[in-house]
Formats: sequence, C-alpha cells, structure tokens
Amino acid sequence: MAENKIPYKIYLEEDEMPKAWYNVRADMKNKPAPLLNPGTHQPMTAEELGGVFCADLVAQELDNDNAYIEIPQEIRDFYKMYRPSPLVRAYCLEEKLQTPAKIYYKFEGNNTSGSHKLNSAIAQAYYAKKQGLKGVTTETGAGQWGTALSMACSYLGLDCKVYMVKVSYEQKPFRREVMRVYGASVTPSPSMETEIGKKINAEHPGTTGSLGCAISEAVEAAVKNPGYRYVLGSVLNQVLLHQSVIGLETKAALDKYGIKPDMIIGCAGGGSNLGGLISPFMGEILRGEADYDIVAVEPASCPSFTRGKFAYDFCDTGMVCPLAKMYTLGSDFIPSANHAGGLRYHGMSPVLSQLYDDGLMRAVSVEQTKVFEAAEQFARVEGILPAPESSHAIRVAIDEALKCKETGEEKTIVFGLTGTGYFDMVAYEKFHDGKMDDYIPTDEELAKYAAKLPKID
Ligand SMILES: *Cc1c(COP(=O)(O)O)cnc(C)c1O
Repeated sequence: MAENKIPYKIYLEEDEMPKAWYNVRADMKNKPAPLLNPGTHQPMTAEELGGVFCADLVAQELDNDNAYIEIPQEIRDFYKMYRPSPLVRAYCLEEKLQTPAKIYYKFEGNNTSGSHKLNSAIAQAYYAKKQGLKGVTTETGAGQWGTALSMACSYLGLDCKVYMVKVSYEQKPFRREVMRVYGASVTPSPSMETEIGKKINAEHPGTTGSLGCAISEAVEAAVKNPGYRYVLGSVLNQVLLHQSVIGLETKAALDKYGIKPDMIIGCAGGGSNLGGLISPFMGEILRGEADYDIVAVEPASCPSFTRGKFAYDFCDTGMVCPLAKMYTLGSDFIPSANHAGGLRYHGMSPVLSQLYDDGLMRAVSVEQTKVFEAAEQFARVEGILPAPESSHAIRVAIDEALKCKETGEEKTIVFGLTGTGYFDMVAYEKFHDGKMDDYIPTDEELAKYAAKLPKID
C-alpha cells in the first residue's frame, strides 16, 4: 500500500523548523476590529497598550501588515527543547473505526506544561526580559497557562505572579505545585491583594472566582507594580501569531509527503491553538491558492461561536481590560461546571471571530459526555491520554471519519491534539461514575447576558 510510505510520526529536521511566525492578519481583507479603550471607546494606541503589555508585544498586537515576523534565535533555541511536535498518522484509530478517511493529529502535549501554551509563554517572557522588566503577572484557570508561563519565566530568570481561579487553586493542588516547582508565586483569586479582588470578595462573599475576575486582578497587579507587565495566554492577536508555529510545522510536515488535507479541526477556547494551527492554511484560502474545510469545536456549555453575538465586549469581569470585537456570550457569563477548563472563556479571538463571520470557517458545539467517550476511545487505540479540551477536536474528527465510512470518501483529516489530561482525572472519574452532566444554557439565559453587552457606536 502506497500509504504505508507515510510514517506513523512525521518529524521535521532542525533546519526545517519555522524561522518566522506567520501573521494571518496580513492576508485578511477584513482585518480584525481594533481593541478599544474601555473609557473612551477609541482604538487603543500603542502608548496606552504599553502600560499593560511590553513594547515588542504591543507592536505584534497591532501589526496587521507583516506576514512574517522573525522568531528570535533565543526562542527558537527554547523551541528546540520540545519541538518540533510530532504530526501523527492515526493508523490505529483509522483501523479501529474502519474508515477510509486518513487521520492526522498534531500533538502539542510533549512538554512538562502538557499543552501548546508554552509556545506563546516563552515568546511573551522573552520580550519582557528583553525590555528589562522584573516580572510578569497573569491569571490561570485550569492551570495550563500558568504552568507554561512559570516554565518560561524560570528559564529566563523572570519573576512570575499567577492569580489562579480559587476553585481551581483548591481543586487542582498539583497544577499549583508544578508552578511552584518553577518558582512562580500563586495566589487564589479573588484575593485581598488587589482593589478589584477586595471589591469582588465584598460583593460576593465566599465566591470561588472566575477567569474574568482573575484577569482583572492580574492586570491591576501589573499596572501597580513598577517593572511588571501583564501577559495573556490566549485570545490576543500576538498569541495567535506565536501559535502559528503549530500550523507552520504541520504544513511543512504534510508538504514533505505531498499530503493535502481536506479538513482541519481544532478545539476553541480563546482560539489560540486553532488559530495557530490553521493560520498558514487560512493564508492559502485568503490568497485564493487552496480551499480547506476548517472547523472550530467548542463545548455546548460555553458556545461563543455557535450561539454568541459578534460584538464589542469586555475581556474581563472587572471591565479594566480593553474592549475586543469578538463572538461573545457576555463578560459575566459563567458557564456551568465543565471539565474542559481551557474552553470556558466567554469570548473568542478577534481574528478567528472575523474569519468566522466572513464565512471562511465553521463551528460546531459538542456535549461533554460525548467528548469523554471520544477521549477514551482515542486513548485506548492511540495510547495518549488526551486533555478534555483537546478531546473536543477528537470527537469531531471521529464523527467526520465515521461519515466517510458511510459515504466511502477518503478525506484527509488533520486535527490539533493540544495536550494531555493527567491533571484532569477528577473529570475522567466523573465520566466513569456516570456523574457528568451535559448542561446546555437556554436561549433565555444567553439573552440575559447578551442584553448586558456594552453599547458601542
Ligand atoms: C488552554 C487550552 C486550550 C484552549 O485554549 P485556546 O486558546 O482556544 O487554544 C485547549 N487545549 C488545551 C490543552 C489548553 O490548555
């Protein structure tokens, strides 16, 4: 069989690794809408953004024109420790499903932080260091981003202060300890260290926190402490840019064997892994060179693309961050307990939001128990224990492969396997014990939050 020429894992040689990130905005006709100042509703200037983010990252955030941005040598050296990540041909899954489809996945879980977030963490820490800053602040929900940032900061000798959503801080002590191994200080949020934390604690005694609230605290801590800046693990244009390393490697690996995918699937929380994976392929679509079916997968409990509004909204609960135009459920929407912590954000990357609104990609939502069924099916044949977030993409890849079985189509499917699930065993336990629920918000609930979106004209 000709196919057997394609190895189980396609790696790249060191000299085949990307030397520049690809900025999909350069090829977009409709650029993502600018971030707005929450007070004046005017586009944020570089100077204003510079109070929160470090200078080189502000430049990347605002750059809608340069298609390629060189990856500094120091970052490429760090990438070499855990990249290239393998592109795996899922022969065993194909066999199990008895599908004529050809399935590939790009596995980003091969580093200690266990996810793709390290790709942007090292870049953001690098530019902070280059600017001579003392440290960075951030929030973390489930803990993957905080872990990745801790690793990057310890490598570069930067201080790292993480506000961790209180419920995760209490329920995921091991993630917290990994961050401390890398020297980060981890504070449960809402804390009594910031004005916004004190306010939220006073208004909601006993609250277990939310991502939006932790973001507000981290931003306040960055603005108040000289020598500190805030960094964010998803949503922002700069994060998508850094994550393009995933897509560039995927494309280089596929090109090596002359493989052209039909479908590209990824889970979408804030949109960074999906945005990174699809960027070079989307570039081809935008330039009229190729066509792909691109699919974002989100949880039915937090359906920003499939049921949200495309509007300006706050990125955080405290309303201190700039406003972003994105598919959103409203900044105080708190999804029901969903075990894919990384997909619980109310909004979506402005770049992906614009591409989706322009009809260049589609989105589907899936229910939690169906996701865990797919996760387990995958683990049993491919060996890797997937993160619940990643398993959203697995679910849809399996569904599509089963459709091919019916139609006889030999589609080539590529999906992003963003990370491993070792810290999510409580979720797997709930699934095994039949205690997982599939709560889906009603239209009335969503309408209530949508009505509170800020009015921008
Ligand atoms: C954070 C995370 C996600 C979701 O974030 P995106 O910005 O949408 O990529 C997905 N998978 C894993 C493993 C994560 O840690």
